[in-house]
Amino acid sequence: MDTRRQDLLTVVVACFNEADSLPRLHPRIRGVLDGLEAEGVSGRVLYVDDGSRDDTWGRLQKIAAGDPGVGLLRLSRNFGKEIALTAGLDRVTEGAAMILDADGQDPPELIPEFVARWREGFDDVYGTRIAREGDSWLRRGTAAVFYRVIGRLSRTPVPADTGDFRLLSPRALDALRQLRERHRFMKGLFGWVGFRRIAIPYKRRPRMAGRSKFSLWRLWNFALEGITSFSTAPLRLATYLGLLTALVAFFAGIVVVLKTLVWGDSVAGWPTMMVVILFLGGVQLIALGTIGEYLGRLYEEAKQRPLYLVDDWREPAGVCSGTQL
Ligand code: UDP
Ligand code: MG
Repeated sequence: MDTRRQDLLTVVVACFNEADSLPRLHPRIRGVLDGLEAEGVSGRVLYVDDGSRDDTWGRLQKIAAGDPGVGLLRLSRNFGKEIALTAGLDRVTEGAAMILDADGQDPPELIPEFVARWREGFDDVYGTRIAREGDSWLRRGTAAVFYRVIGRLSRTPVPADTGDFRLLSPRALDALRQLRERHRFMKGLFGWVGFRRIAIPYKRRPRMAGRSKFSLWRLWNFALEGITSFSTAPLRLATYLGLLTALVAFFAGIVVVLKTLVWGDSVAGWPTMMVVILFLGGVQLIALGTIGEYLGRLYEEAKQRPLYLVDDWREPAGVCSGTQL
């Protein structure tokens, strides 16, 4: 072995029903990792099967049979991308980790750029989309609004147009592993960890095969997750809304009393009363719902269930001379 610095990199790929993309994606990753070998980086790949219902697991086993540098982790059911990534990152106990989507939207060919930044001393090298090919205008528009809102509400920095395509240094990984919350908004968790961060602009490609697993409804829930996990501003908003309503009601009350005293028309005004009652009822329900969102999450955390269950685990062979996972 030469005396140059030898680094270990594990590419973590969460897969859910990606049977058609994986056989095409793996050779691309392998090619890139082989190229990095010359620069003193030993690469391996860890695929996490997030309870796929198609032939993903079969294809993965085939890939692993032909490549000793491939590790496989199968979860007991579909836990969602955030948990699948957590499960994968939990198993990268040595070296850095690179997170990649299974559908080829994040081009593996950019990995060397990420590695170069890491070797310059950055801990969190993240890809920022300068273009989103293949995404509808609705998807792009809602994403833009979401990043603006979360940027305002959250004190933890969540860079705009940044997904999970990123490289994490060993110490960033260590830090991330300590965050065991159930509702995992990864973009926020990465930001919470901090350390030295840098963006790499890239063009997000269309999917190689299959369809996006994130419907608009799922994205909406994901956005709620992000906001409630990283900000208590909505709770405060409820308080301000209450204050404002009380203030308006106070002045409205004065007007009503004066009117009654001057004109004596105390009975008329049924529509006004209904409007006020309905309005107040609405505001109260919104505030209650907001509290409920937080309470529900607190309940989930209190149960202390494990984040995920593992069905099968195949460790990648020790690609790096002498080092094991
Ligand atoms: N994914 C996952 N579990 C899920 C949903 C998605 O592991 O429950 C994976 C999926 O296989 C892909 C990545 O997360 O590798 C991104 O998913 P997708 O391409 O559907 O999302 P989009 O790119 O449209 O945001
Ligand atoms: Mg995708």
